[in-house]
Amino acid sequence: MSSHTGKFGEYGGQYVPEALMPAIEELEDAYQRYVLENEDGFMDDFRARLADFGGRPTPLQHAKRLSERYDRDVYLKREDLLHGGAHKLNNALGQVLLAKYMGKERIIAETGAGQHGTATAMACAHLGMPCEVYMGRRDINRQRPNVFRMRLNGAEVNPVTVGRGTLKEAISETMRDWATNVEDTHYVIGSVVGPHPFPAMVRDFQRVISEEAREQIREKAGRLPDSVLTCAGGGSNTMGVFAEFIPDDDVDLYAVEAGGSSLEVDEEAGVAPNSATLSTGTEGVLHGSRTRVLQDRDGQIMESHSVSAGLDYAGVGPELADLVDRGRVTAVNVDDDHALEGFHRLSQLEGVIPALESAHAAAYVEENHEDLGEVILLNISGRGDKDLETVLEETHGRDIENAPEIETFAETGGFQ
Ligand SMILES: *Cc1c(COP(=O)(O)O)cnc(C)c1O
Repeated sequence: MSSHTGKFGEYGGQYVPEALMPAIEELEDAYQRYVLENEDGFMDDFRARLADFGGRPTPLQHAKRLSERYDRDVYLKREDLLHGGAHKLNNALGQVLLAKYMGKERIIAETGAGQHGTATAMACAHLGMPCEVYMGRRDINRQRPNVFRMRLNGAEVNPVTVGRGTLKEAISETMRDWATNVEDTHYVIGSVVGPHPFPAMVRDFQRVISEEAREQIREKAGRLPDSVLTCAGGGSNTMGVFAEFIPDDDVDLYAVEAGGSSLEVDEEAGVAPNSATLSTGTEGVLHGSRTRVLQDRDGQIMESHSVSAGLDYAGVGPELADLVDRGRVTAVNVDDDHALEGFHRLSQLEGVIPALESAHAAAYVEENHEDLGEVILLNISGRGDKDLETVLEETHGRDIENAPEIETFAETGGFQ
């Protein structure tokens, strides 16, 4: 539990090579002083920049048409309106600013779909820090607009060609860079994963979501919500929107994972056609931390899958894994098809095009609203502009000629 030991029940810790220990210890010390003790007014500076540069506070919107549909009150926490279009800036800005206070001169980061890389590149441009982002070769080809965004903000994008050329390899490569450049470099990790103090520190940078939402819902609904729901990949928006509600025993917390195309695992091929780590994973070590992971019988990390790139990760934050084990958080999952339905429904009913990640949580509310109480808080972790092409492909196939079918979809009343 204690952030000082970096242990959350069985999970967490620091499973890193010796070469990284000096950097980790230096970071622990900086986290303690600047973040927890607000030395030199660090947290005040951070909050002021989240407002000026980031556009915080983000609104809490009473979703009128969804509320009518479910005959209960649904409130949307609009992290899609944060600068950059997702919650990721909260963490990226916090870490780059911390690196600056620590006297570091160079920022490195990993990125999968490019969302964390773009948030880090934005924060670096804002703070005048050189930035290098490691990205799998395959992801670079799949996510060209994000590669361009990072370069526009002055970041260098380093292609990673080992393995499958995706997020897992990009993280390992960034760790290697960090180990050889610990003196002047800070590694901005993208979620509540990795060795201590990252899981606790990233949670504390994302905590602003629930600090705001808890106040906002008391003002708007006159009470706390019965349930809080959000998607979980690594779990940073998840821990962010849960953090302040954890002591509120009457508030149910739901982490919605990616059920992908199936929960069945192909052990032989080492493939999990989902990213439902909390629901189906087992205890193991990934990227410096003991947590729940998708692994085969030999402990090899499996290839994961989700229609939403941001949820496509074979591990999960250790604190979230522990909260699920202790029964404080309920882990559920939603498959690709239902997430796509959720994406369309929220777009049509509320005029909010959510990230495919967030659409998973919206889809869970559709199916289960009767069990979620009278007041529901649904976190919209990001906007869906980045997913338009994926949705088009998934819904209508690659043939752009078929795009007008979107109208047919609306005419049929969508997924009523
Ligand atoms: C990256 C991302 C996620 C998943 O990351 P977490 O660390 O699980 O929050 C969810 N939603 C959006 C919009 C993202 O970009």
